[in-house]
Amino acid sequence: MTEASSGSSRSGERLSLAVLQAENQRLRTRLEAMLNEARLNQEKMRRFDQLERKVIGAASLAELIRTLLQDYKTLFELDTVSLVLVDPQYEVAQILASQAAGMPEDGLIFLDSDQPLQTLYAHAGRPILTPYGQAHAFLFETEVPGVVSLALLPLVHHGRFIGSLNLGSKDRQRFLSGSSTDFLERLAALVAVCLDSALATERLKLAGLTDALTGVHNRRYFESRCLEEVVAARRSGAPLVCMFLDVDHFKKLNDTLGHQAGDEVLGYVARLIKAQLRGSDVVARYGGEEFVVLLPATPLQAGLDTAERIRRIVAAQSVPAKTQEAIRVTVSLGVSMLDTTAAAEEPSALVADMVSRADKALYEAKAAGRNRVMSTPEV
Ligand code: GH3
Ligand code: MG
Ligand code: MG
Repeated sequence: MTEASSGSSRSGERLSLAVLQAENQRLRTRLEAMLNEARLNQEKMRRFDQLERKVIGAASLAELIRTLLQDYKTLFELDTVSLVLVDPQYEVAQILASQAAGMPEDGLIFLDSDQPLQTLYAHAGRPILTPYGQAHAFLFETEVPGVVSLALLPLVHHGRFIGSLNLGSKDRQRFLSGSSTDFLERLAALVAVCLDSALATERLKLAGLTDALTGVHNRRYFESRCLEEVVAARRSGAPLVCMFLDVDHFKKLNDTLGHQAGDEVLGYVARLIKAQLRGSDVVARYGGEEFVVLLPATPLQAGLDTAERIRRIVAAQSVPAKTQEAIRVTVSLGVSMLDTTAAAEEPSALVADMVSRADKALYEAKAAGRNRVMSTPEV
């Protein structure tokens, strides 16, 4: 080997060493990036897993909706989350209103038809990652300032759109179109199944708590809801009005016009009562031709005004009966308030006391000549 050739081989070794070192560094950086991504994915997976458990474990429709709107937002550090539900018959809205916990404060939007979702998802039913645009405004109650990046998850069950779960971020890079949507697709499918099954359960529960003739709640529902409202009123200190309503001379009406006409009157009276109430009020058929109404967060005078309004409207309207000419009826009402001074009493004792005072007031309204509103003097 000559001097020159040995020199050139040394510089060759140095070169290949430098190449190797550079290659090594490049691989090391790549490995680190991959490890980092794996760690991030693992963390993402852990949070998805946590959310999935909560979604599956939700005890009621209301809890499921709250999990989606609140836990999702916190777990995934989102700036806004909304849930759109297709609810043409106002069934979901009614179910939620019938639960003491009520509607979630914000983020829940109802649609009369699935048409807007069909258009948005172009029938494909795959999640959409997109910058915020005017076309997405209907998915959110209000535009959250600064939200620029959206992930929109179609909720499809048995080939039917039941809604859309919408995630928004102020980070422009958060949801980039073209990124993988595997996690989101899986979550959307799970949420759709859980929503559908929670709805089916609530429908069944509601059927067992609804009066078939009038469509309002039954006495069983009233009894459990009344207890919840009394506990809530005691906790918040808000006044609670209880009202009993009984159709006057109903037996005579049945005897002269027939049982079917009587049934029609009951359905009509129930509708008239409902039309005078707020969504948070409760009406139930207590039995026979007697209804009971609860007005949460209502002072006595407002309760008496509502009772008087119902009395006047029933007296003024004729019931359009199928069987014969229009029927005129009147109703008597007894009003009481929850006794908030009896701090130590058991809630069930408070319920019994409030109900019996409303019943007594009703009896007095009957005795005083019917077609009138009376309240117990104790409140
Ligand atoms: P008052 O003004 O004192 O309330 O007199 P009333 O005749 O309304 O009261 P009463 O309690 O004597 O009669 C109630 C009647 O309601 C008797 C019962 O046959 C009738 N009734 C109870 N449930 C139903 C029902 O589901 N359908 C019909 N058509 N009648 C019913
Ligand atoms: Mg009666
Ligand atoms: Mg009666």
